[in-house]
Amino acid sequence: MIEAKHRAALEALLRDRVAFDVPLSRHTSLRIGGPADALATPADRDELGRLLALCAELGLPTRVLGAGFNVLVSDAGLSGVVLRLKKLRRIERVADDAIAVEAGASHATITNYCIDAGLSGLEFGAGIPGTLGGWLAMNAGIGVRELKDVVRSVTWMSARGELEAPVARADLDFRYRALAGLPPGAVLVGAELSVTPSDRATVKAEIDRLLAHRTRTQPTDIPSCGSVFRNPPGDFAGRLIEAAGLKGTREGGAEISTVHANFIVNRGGATAADVLALVARAREAVREATGVELETEVQLLGREAAEHGGASR
Ligand SMILES: Cc1cc2nc3c(=O)[nH]c(=O)nc-3n(C[C@H](O)[C@H](O)[C@H](O)COP(=O)(O)OP(=O)(O)OC[C@H]3O[C@@H](n4cnc5c(N)ncnc54)[C@H](O)[C@@H]3O)c2cc1C
Repeated sequence: MIEAKHRAALEALLRDRVAFDVPLSRHTSLRIGGPADALATPADRDELGRLLALCAELGLPTRVLGAGFNVLVSDAGLSGVVLRLKKLRRIERVADDAIAVEAGASHATITNYCIDAGLSGLEFGAGIPGTLGGWLAMNAGIGVRELKDVVRSVTWMSARGELEAPVARADLDFRYRALAGLPPGAVLVGAELSVTPSDRATVKAEIDRLLAHRTRTQPTDIPSCGSVFRNPPGDFAGRLIEAAGLKGTREGGAEISTVHANFIVNRGGATAADVLALVARAREAVREATGVELETEVQLLGREAAEHGGASR
């Protein structure tokens, strides 16, 4: 709950770009999640800066939600202010072989821009749903290629709303499905990405090929959050969960996908507690069968998430 005078201060800054007690199930691909105390959609970088400064001054915690494709929000929801950057979505050609992209640009917007401009290099992102901010924070990728391979520099704002100078790729700590070393509460606002001039037909053909492969191997027509677990070194989480006989296992409305065992899908009415129960079962079964300790890739946000290794607020 945000007290009345803090609500008034947020409304004075953002007008209709802030809403209160918003169910996050409407903003996550799993269609799961309790309410955010406040959901704010700043109009531009300037307003984002002023909003972060205000939250810091009022002592309100903040958390960025990209497009919600790799998060599990607890049923109790999230306290403080959840930020969405979907209005920061500009893409600009800054060199023959580079584009500058704002953090709220979606995978579809980036993909379509590259097709229209005949730019190659980002085809692998076409099937990784989300925003540039989520791609960077997760170092999203498809095995052979990850965001870190195309990043030239990244720009963020501090938790107090100060815009920092762009940080070059060589000084960034990209890891497997993570960008480590960001200051606490930093908000990614954009990046420069490398591209190679090509032609529309070639770029589109590669995208179509990758998307067709994905449709064959992943449950793309039912709510999910992508991979639940990180792949352990030298193996695949999905293979281990399938070998433990858990494909199709259900808990309430949640199910370990019958198509790909590292996906948990929402068959209707699933809660975060249902998903967390399946996470615990998969971990236990794989540990018992192989001794491997699976770690979650999906970001667990909210109060009950703490005991499962997620952020607690
Ligand atoms: C069907 C399906 C298939 C998928 N396939 C893949 C795949 O092949 N490869 C892969 O890597 N992922 C995959 N994913 C997962 C997901 O697409 C990626 O993790 C993507 O990068 C999430 O982006 P998002 O904007 O939705 O981020 P969110 O899920 O909203 O957020 C993810 C994390 O990033 C943080 N974050 C987001 N924006 C910012 C910002 N601006 N500043 C600071 N932190 C930020 C959030 O706080 C959160 O911790 C898949 C998901 C689905 C549903």
